[in-house]
Amino acid sequence: MELFNPLIQDTKALFERAVPRVWDYSERDCWHDIGSNELVLSRDAAYELGAAGKGSANYVLFTSSGDLVNKDQVLLYGPDLKDIRGDVDFARIVLLRVGVLSDDDEQVFRILKDIEFAKYHVYPEGYMVRMSPENYREQVRVSKQALKKGISFRSIGASYIKAYKKDPNVLNATVIFSTLPGLDYKTMKDYAKKSSDITNTLTHILEGLPTDCSVCALKDICDEVEGMKELHFGVGAEGAGKH
Ligand code: SF4
Repeated sequence: MELFNPLIQDTKALFERAVPRVWDYSERDCWHDIGSNELVLSRDAAYELGAAGKGSANYVLFTSSGDLVNKDQVLLYGPDLKDIRGDVDFARIVLLRVGVLSDDDEQVFRILKDIEFAKYHVYPEGYMVRMSPENYREQVRVSKQALKKGISFRSIGASYIKAYKKDPNVLNATVIFSTLPGLDYKTMKDYAKKSSDITNTLTHILEGLPTDCSVCALKDICDEVEGMKELHFGVGAEGAGKH
């Protein structure tokens, strides 16, 4: 699974001048999970991460490279939850190292989709997540009560890692949070879109799209992402596509 590797490198480059706080994953750090969506009313919220008008990005990238991802860790760029005083820019980026899942490409991508859905099964108490997949944004309302109880990115990150690692194909999960002002959240959103374009193209390929690049609507992404065309011509097309 090398299709996302350039995006992982580009994402890391966005943060190279900033210094993160880093916590190794421990299941003991996980925040209390209430098992379903909690409504945090605005009067009970201390602030919103990635609120309207603020930078916001959310995406997941996969690799099988142990050079790119080799730890279960939470990284935080910028202030932690207890130190935030109002609405802030926000990004949550997840890097997953997956094992050699199967020789069957179709099965591999179904598994990747399942892994991605893990993010919809994390319900930290006092941390209401609203995702806009079409905008690649994530907004989070943090309750005053949760702050009093000591909620932190370390604990939220641990909860996400626990959810991802429930899938035995996930070897390592690194969760990056950013609340640092001045980072390039717009480019992060562009990377989120690109990641989603790759996944959607894979889905189309697996649905049996004809292998004629000259008339294909997905040509731009396939031209840009190394390995995509090879993948299509290797999946059910017997190498018969026109370039
Ligand atoms: S490889 Fe060619 S035909 Fe296949 S999805 Fe990409 S552009 Fe379309």
